[in-house]
Amino acid sequence: MKLLKDLNIDSTWTLFLDRDGVINEKIENDYVKSLSDFEFIEGSLEALEMLEPMFDYIVVVTNQQGIGKGVMTEVDLLIIHQKLVIEVTENGGRIDKIYHCPNLAADNAPCRKPSTGMAFQAREDFPEIDFTKSIMVGDSQSDMEFGDRLGMKCVKIGEDEHHESFESLFHFAHRISIQ
Ligand SMILES: [Mg+2]
Repeated sequence: MKLLKDLNIDSTWTLFLDRDGVINEKIENDYVKSLSDFEFIEGSLEALEMLEPMFDYIVVVTNQQGIGKGVMTEVDLLIIHQKLVIEVTENGGRIDKIYHCPNLAADNAPCRKPSTGMAFQAREDFPEIDFTKSIMVGDSQSDMEFGDRLGMKCVKIGEDEHHESFESLFHFAHRISIQ
């Protein structure tokens, strides 16, 4: 496993972030369906501020099958993501674009992680993105599989035997800022 410190990471690298469990608190067995459900994880706004100057592109890739299940709408999600981007920006951070997959797990949609569709959407928008010079930060196995399939450097929030892991996005940002 190549560690962050062994990679020559500069601003031409791209940062892919999962959302729930990385930026905001994940809700077990439910979805963040409205603004009142959305809560930043402690330190994640500071982390995004630290990461802002380090990467030309910072994108979020998030599975949101609550839409496919009909428990929330595209508009509900848009409102949440507008608030997310505004708060991140007001705190000195940056998110260049958020990609979401609304499909049910059972749909086998190409956008649903661990499938790689959202990464290719991002590269269509930002052709400079090089997956082999990208970091995927996520809290679930499907995030790691998504990044592995694309040849990305994967970073797990939480425990992982097979991937470099950190307690939080803040700890990751701190680690990468000192190298
Ligand atoms: Mg997650």
